[in-house]
Amino acid sequence: MKIVISDIPDEGLELEIDEALSAGTVKLISPVKGNLSVKKVGQELIIQGEITAKAEFECSRCLKSYTDEICVPVGVTYHPLEELKPEGKYEVKEDELDTDFYAGDEFDLLELIKEQIVLNVPMKLLCSEACKGICPKCGTDLNINKCNCSLTEVDSRLEILKDLLRRE
Ligand SMILES: [Zn+2]
Ligand SMILES: [Zn+2]
Repeated sequence: MKIVISDIPDEGLELEIDEALSAGTVKLISPVKGNLSVKKVGQELIIQGEITAKAEFECSRCLKSYTDEICVPVGVTYHPLEELKPEGKYEVKEDELDTDFYAGDEFDLLELIKEQIVLNVPMKLLCSEACKGICPKCGTDLNINKCNCSLTEVDSRLEILKDLLRRE
C-alpha cells in the first residue's frame, strides 16, 4: 500500500484498511481493519486513526495459545529524512506524536501498520486475568486440574528463618 506523497491532495486522504498481512513476531489471524487519515502539512505527513486485528498469543502463565483483538490507535508524524541531516531543522519535541521519517516521494503504509501493531502488543500476555498457570513442580495445568504439590514449602522455610532471626 504505497502512497505517493506528491499525490496526496490538500484535503488529505481517508483510507479504509482491510489488509491481510504478517507483522513480524505477531501472529495475526485476521485482516487488519480500520481507518487512517493521511494529511500533508508542509513537508510533514500526519497519519492518524485506529486499526484493529485479531492475533494469536501464547499465555505467559499456562503457555496455551489464545486469541485476542488488538486495537492500535495510530498517531504518527513523518518528517522528510533530510531534516535529520546536520543542517536540518528537525528537533524532537516532547509533546509530539510518534515520529518517523520518510525518504523520497513514496511511503509504505503497510510498513507503518506492521510497526504499530508490533509496538502495541500487550505487555502482559495472559489468556485471562484469572489464569492459574502451570504448576512449576509437576507441570499440571492448574486451570484444569489440581495437583498435590505444596507450593508453600519455600515460603514456610523462609518463615522459619525469619523466626530464627527474630529470636536473635
Ligand atoms: Zn493462561
Ligand atoms: Zn504440581
